[in-house]
Amino acid sequence: MLTLIPTPIGNLEDISKRAISALKTSEILFCEDTRVTKKLLNLLNIDYKNKEFISMHSHNEDKILQKLDPEILKTKNVGYVSDAGMPGISDPGSKLVKFAQKHNIPYTVIPGPNAAITAFVASGFEGEFIFYGFLPHKGSEREKKLNEVINSQKISILYESPHRIEKLLNELKEKIPNRTIFLAKELTKLHETFIKGKVKDINIENTKGEWVVVIDKGEKANTLSLTYDEILNLPLPKKEKS
Ligand code: SAM
Repeated sequence: MLTLIPTPIGNLEDISKRAISALKTSEILFCEDTRVTKKLLNLLNIDYKNKEFISMHSHNEDKILQKLDPEILKTKNVGYVSDAGMPGISDPGSKLVKFAQKHNIPYTVIPGPNAAITAFVASGFEGEFIFYGFLPHKGSEREKKLNEVINSQKISILYESPHRIEKLLNELKEKIPNRTIFLAKELTKLHETFIKGKVKDINIENTKGEWVVVIDKGEKANTLSLTYDEILNLPLPKKEKS
């Protein structure tokens, strides 16, 4: 049986009873970083000397899964833990789920702490949203994705690192100075900070920490934009009976 186990995004008290129980009963723990998981187990006073740890992260997961015997996951309690929050959300985990689906391995996902959802609720924005995770770091890929975010008719949720948060804010100032955004820094931690306002009015003094950026939906474009083919295929108006 495979269990995807969420871990706190800052506040140790956010670990759930179910997550603790799964950590305790796992005989094998796949971890994004075994050092981070062992530190957590120490903080939770969970004895891990009889557990097997397997490091599985974005750079080696394909290789590990190619060699992994599905029987192990069928016969043992196996857990997957990323460094923080929900596995599979801007973190490894989805490939292990696909592996379980392919080999008919029973699996479950324990719900738990997640920075995107926590920031969305804190933002006070209401309605449909799209989770983008991290934008590409640079070049035309970043420009393309950023334009998609800005033109979206839905609320956008982005993850950003302390090294790039200022760059992102400057890009938004240039493109959408009057849009309302919400920034959440260090969620659930001692220095949790919320900032909401029009992009042009936001200045951050201390970029250090983990960031979620929530961007309100864009205005509906009032110009009709159809491709040539779409125009040709428009239904003709019915003739009124005389
Ligand atoms: N799996 C995690 C989750 O469920 O939220 C996300 C992991 S992703 C590699 C790490 C990014 O999530 C950070 O760079 C930051 O953008 C966001 N993040 C994680 N913890 C956070 C926190 N306590 N406060 C604000 N953002 C956080």
